[in-house]
Amino acid sequence: MPNKPLAIVIGAGPAGLMAAERLALGGFDVEVFDAMPSAGRKFLLAGKSGMNLTHAENLESFLGRFGHASPSLERALKLFPPAAIRDWAQGLGVETFVGSSGRVFPTDMKAAPLLRAWLHRLRQSGVRFFMRHRWLGFSQYRTYRFQTADGEIEKEAAIAVLALGGASWARLGSDGRWFDYFDRSQITLHPFKPSNCGFECKWSEHFSSKFSGSPLTKVGLQIRTVKEHDEYRIGQFVVSEHGVEGSLIYAFSADIRDLIERDGKATIELDLTPDRSEERILSELNSGRGARSWSSFLRSKLSLHPVHIGLLYEALEKDQMQDVEVLASTIKRLPLILDRARPIDEAISSAGGLCFSELDSDLMMKHFPSVYCAGEMLDWEAPTGGYLLSACLATGYLAGEAGCAFLQNSFAGMMNEGQDV
Ligand SMILES: Cc1cc2nc3c(=O)[nH]c(=O)nc-3n(C[C@H](O)[C@H](O)[C@H](O)COP(=O)(O)OP(=O)(O)OC[C@H]3O[C@@H](n4cnc5c(N)ncnc54)[C@H](O)[C@@H]3O)c2cc1C
Repeated sequence: MPNKPLAIVIGAGPAGLMAAERLALGGFDVEVFDAMPSAGRKFLLAGKSGMNLTHAENLESFLGRFGHASPSLERALKLFPPAAIRDWAQGLGVETFVGSSGRVFPTDMKAAPLLRAWLHRLRQSGVRFFMRHRWLGFSQYRTYRFQTADGEIEKEAAIAVLALGGASWARLGSDGRWFDYFDRSQITLHPFKPSNCGFECKWSEHFSSKFSGSPLTKVGLQIRTVKEHDEYRIGQFVVSEHGVEGSLIYAFSADIRDLIERDGKATIELDLTPDRSEERILSELNSGRGARSWSSFLRSKLSLHPVHIGLLYEALEKDQMQDVEVLASTIKRLPLILDRARPIDEAISSAGGLCFSELDSDLMMKHFPSVYCAGEMLDWEAPTGGYLLSACLATGYLAGEAGCAFLQNSFAGMMNEGQDV
């Protein structure tokens, strides 16, 4: 309708779709642009391994998961908190449940039914989608350049929400190329870094070929962070061909990454038997193994699996394996030196991006009034556990709501008079 101002959203991931939803509910004309042939590709991938939509812990702990960015995200996360995300999913016909760890999942664990219902509702409310439209930057104030199959076009809009994603899984659209569309002499951007990612270490050929893909289901991980804090957590991870990956490693990925950045390497210590003290292990080891090999003795006495024993052989020389005191202390504190993060494109998410100092409290760009930003393109990071999607949805929600208020204030008179805007 000509008398409605046009709001455009660039990026059809969860952050952009949420912004589009709020703008459409505000009664504005909404168009969504994305470089890919279809919307929400990374969102769909997140559903492949069981979509973790949000987290049910108390709001204070929840806010604490966003580290240094917590104050910048607080307004959005309080405006659209985890309980509201669950209600929103229910409104789309998707029930959720709280898992034993407090993580919230759709009952079918999938993303596809939620995305399908969401896109349907958006289209019903008048939102128009333009796929295969790559934003190339601004041409002038309120004019946006897009690359399409038919060449370059320009689009004028009263406001825009940029929700361009981070820099992992480029083949799903989140390629971080938008970084170059900003004039960095004007706009502060922090370089992208892998977050919630695997790390590389130097396995022996024997260990890597035998144990690559093996899970360690209940191990402790201790690390001394760059701030000299000792952190310890129990969880699980997987031995990969090049190193380690999985939830326990992801939980410490920011700390490990920061140590590697500072020291060129990070040492983590693994506790292979979190339920047994070192004294108890020592007494078991001293109880005598008879004619049994060390491997079969360690398996039966301490319930260690072959992958645990393989790790011990990676860390110790043969003669050290015979020294029960060295062995007991290594079972409790097995050092693993991590050399580098796996490539950012493999990471679950990325840190870095557009700095919050470029935005006002409504997530509007200070240099470009009427341009809002949301989602993973902003400079924050959080562990897995539903925090990533929560912050994307919440910042999309805030950008959409703030965009509505901006449009109402700027165009109220014209809209009332039915003038073209
Ligand atoms: C394997 C995997 C599992 C995950 N599981 C979970 C989970 O269970 N829970 C959780 O909370 N999070 C999970 N995540 C993270 C979550 O998917 C992302 O944080 C989230 O999708 C980011 O949302 P976004 O809208 O900010 O960006 P994206 O989803 O990355 O969307 C950005 C969109 O912008 C488009 N775009 C980029 N540049 C341009 C341009 N120049 N012009 C036009 N369009 C452009 C892209 O094509 C894309 O569609 C997972 C991620 C991965 C990789």
